Amino acid sequence: MARFNCKCGESLSNSTNPNIEYKIFSNNEWDNLIDRTENGEKPLDFDGYTVHFWKCPNCKRLYFFNNSSDKPSQVYKLEEEDGSVVKKVMD
Ligand SMILES: [Zn+2]
Repeated sequence: MARFNCKCGESLSNSTNPNIEYKIFSNNEWDNLIDRTENGEKPLDFDGYTVHFWKCPNCKRLYFFNNSSDKPSQVYKLEEEDGSVVKKVMD
């Protein structure tokens, strides 16, 4: 893909930092992928139609992309100012 600046100012690039990119599969797509792998078949190329997101390592914003678009379709930001993702609710 490319590079762009997160709203927090962090420069994001999946070529220099591939760990920021995640791909999302439906259960059906995932099952098909596993079945093909277990059967020794070549895995399907999901790049053309998967949803994927980038996670900013600084502010943890998530930028979702549809298919092969290079423009985010949705952006999610953590609610908590301290950057916490999960609150402890039970001991
Ligand atoms: Zn950021």
